[in-house]
Amino acid sequence: MLRAKNKDQGALRRRSLSPVPQMSRGRLLLVVAAFVAAVLAVIKSQIDTNSARFETPQLGAQQEALPAEALESATDDVAGLSAPTDPPWPERIVQDGETLSRILTQAGYSDREIYNITSQPQDGESLVRLLPGQIIAFQPDDSGELVGLRHIKSPLESVTYLRTSAGFESHAEILSPEPRETWAQGTIDTSLFVAGEKAGLSQGIILAMANIFGGVIDFALDTRKGDTVQLFYEELFLNDQKFKDGDIIAASFTNQGETFNAFRYTDVSGDTNYYNEDGVSMRKAFLMAPLDFTRVSSNFNLRRLHPIYKTVRPHRGTDYAAPTGTPVYAAGDGRVIRAGYTRSNGNYVVIAHGEQYVTKYLHLHKRRVKAGQRVLQSQVIGTVGSTGAATGPHLHYEFLMDDRHRNPRTVYKYLPKASALPKAEMADFRQTIDKANKQLALLNANNNMAAHDLSSSNNALN
Ligand SMILES: [Zn+2]
Repeated sequence: MLRAKNKDQGALRRRSLSPVPQMSRGRLLLVVAAFVAAVLAVIKSQIDTNSARFETPQLGAQQEALPAEALESATDDVAGLSAPTDPPWPERIVQDGETLSRILTQAGYSDREIYNITSQPQDGESLVRLLPGQIIAFQPDDSGELVGLRHIKSPLESVTYLRTSAGFESHAEILSPEPRETWAQGTIDTSLFVAGEKAGLSQGIILAMANIFGGVIDFALDTRKGDTVQLFYEELFLNDQKFKDGDIIAASFTNQGETFNAFRYTDVSGDTNYYNEDGVSMRKAFLMAPLDFTRVSSNFNLRRLHPIYKTVRPHRGTDYAAPTGTPVYAAGDGRVIRAGYTRSNGNYVVIAHGEQYVTKYLHLHKRRVKAGQRVLQSQVIGTVGSTGAATGPHLHYEFLMDDRHRNPRTVYKYLPKASALPKAEMADFRQTIDKANKQLALLNANNNMAAHDLSSSNNALN
């Protein structure tokens, strides 16, 4: 079965990603040259997946070798799974409210046959509650009696019932998808989200990445044209078909010249988190942007002149313009100390984070928390609105340290240090991230060369 095959995953993974770091210098230059050409040919914007850029014969051969091997064992799995599939069993997709009894009655089976299968002691009861979208496949023998039935609960889980002289026997199959590593990289043109979507990255992967860097980058206001991103992640395959995206293994984001790296690591207690190359957790005490950044207007300017009072007031916070209803998150763990309404603030929430830090959220459409309540980082505390003295829907966010307003985008260097891995784990950590770290360094180098090349060719045109 696929599970047995997982023993080979280590080898598969190493081979699927090894070509780049193990390349000779000459080949590397070829790849870099191909890469630069591809960048010039495409446009210097969106994220491109590796397949478009690294089309070297060497890598191509490696990639062809892999599926062949995977296919072989996948075919075995299919044969093992589907015992009597010749001819294929007729399948029915379960409709809303449909029961097994109705499906089998319509197919011409008797109440007695239906009873025989639903009373099967091991799994029969699970046939009583079918869910819409599941699949029922069944097979009669030559005399028209039911000899086999398969309940496909999900792409990963199915139960097959086969008639024997002693009644129906059931076999449950649970498939483990096979993870394969892939990578994507590119340069931001408008926003991380737009670039990722155009490149065909799933929203889940883009959001997972934004989540990893949520403590160090304000994706709503701080991303700039020319920021670069490198991403290693797993895709999960079932029988050689992509099933869904898996986890991000490592990611790098260069924001206005500053590079942040993050690596997935499971510590000795079995907790999986993301750490920078020094083993410091990427999870910080505060989010840089306490709202769903994907909905923030990118062309929003901080208003110096107060829009309603028409006076120049010291602006003590950050304004995020976003549609009414956009979720607003607690920037960090803490306790709600005030939640209410005033004419200027509208609906507002104030959270204390320990003794030293306070965050404020104004002009909310709805409040979702009450004074006294404990909140966790990223918990939804309300939604963006335009209540109080606000011309349009936006979140006004304030960050206070020792009762003084601070710029949340520059203060993070003074914030409490994020937790780091214990020294005893660092050797294992370094070894675990070594391969991904080299990959990121190489992709970063490629990006820099590409950027350099683009700028010099622009100069030549001018
Ligand atoms: Zn404001």
